[in-house]
Amino acid sequence: MAEIFVLVDHANGQVRKTTAEMLTIAARLGEPSAVYLGPGAAEAAATLGKFGAGRVYAMDSADLTGYLVVPQAEFLAALVGKLKPGAVLIPSNPAGKEIAARVAVKTGSGLVTDAIDVQPGDGGIETTKSVFAGSYTVKAKVTKGTPIICVKPNSAAPQEKPAAGQVVPVNLTISDAAKTAQITEAKEKQASGRPELTEAAIVVSGGRGTGGDFSPVETFADSLGAAVGASRAAVDAGWYPHTSQVGQTGKQVSPQLYVACGISGAIQHRAGMQTSKTIVAINKDPEAPIFELVDFGVVGDLFTVLPQATEKVQAS
Ligand code: FAD
Repeated sequence: MAEIFVLVDHANGQVRKTTAEMLTIAARLGEPSAVYLGPGAAEAAATLGKFGAGRVYAMDSADLTGYLVVPQAEFLAALVGKLKPGAVLIPSNPAGKEIAARVAVKTGSGLVTDAIDVQPGDGGIETTKSVFAGSYTVKAKVTKGTPIICVKPNSAAPQEKPAAGQVVPVNLTISDAAKTAQITEAKEKQASGRPELTEAAIVVSGGRGTGGDFSPVETFADSLGAAVGASRAAVDAGWYPHTSQVGQTGKQVSPQLYVACGISGAIQHRAGMQTSKTIVAINKDPEAPIFELVDFGVVGDLFTVLPQATEKVQAS
């Protein structure tokens, strides 16, 4: 069985949930191996092994962490050239997509971004990807080189599959040419205690209909362990931080459940959330366009509906 590389998504010593999802996908395709760049591989090995990683290729070097993504891409491309895995799975976030593109060019391979499903197929690995901001899905297959696949968060439910998680130190020389953009300052985001928006299994978003009062949205989100998102109207009004904006010019989310509260459903908002598995909207206007794409719609005032919904969730 071919080895399938998974580029570990980690921050502040924590392995992100996306990694477990990608390891679960990798186990369908072959033998999962993790590729861990930066400090903390030994501590992460147990978690990676729990989700099926037999090996954890690791390099802890300031050359990989002190610069933007080019050295990471150079390292991964060299490892792919050396060990010739059956495929490489990379998180479909801005940094991951840049790494993936560079690895694909360096290894002469095909690349699929925004994959929402990856399955073994007769003639090679088959991916389903979202295109046109989630308006359509297409099936795509890499036909050249090693399939490099960027996988969107929440594309698989993580499944435990205990494996060795053996750390394999790899020391490759990073060229000076790759060290083009040094990180001069890194600011940590303030922790809200809620899951990261793009990774969360449930997202509750508020729009102009909140009138600037996000408290019922936040209370409902907390009852579900959800992340809080916002429409651009809410962000532009200064009611919620820009980092929480969902949409074409914000973040793209694909949770199991998306709840839109007081959001009309403009095309630019849809572009960031329409690949969500189940969509619920609460809006007092029965003609609001958001109702065209929902699985469940509640016509009502969010200030009445959300407290009732919170009470029900807390009682269950
Ligand atoms: P509105 O369209 O004003 O809708 C508010 C809704 O709340 C209405 O449907 C109303 O019936 C309902 N409502 C009011 N009060 C209540 C209540 N008490 N209870 C329940 N419902 C209530 N938008 C984004 O969201 N994300 C983007 O990334 C984005 N990018 C853009 C990029 C460009 C280039 C452009 C031109 C626009 C972009 N927009 C984006 C803006 C987008 O076009 C809409 O203006 C925006 O999404 C509207 O936000 P909204 O739904 O919160 O507000």
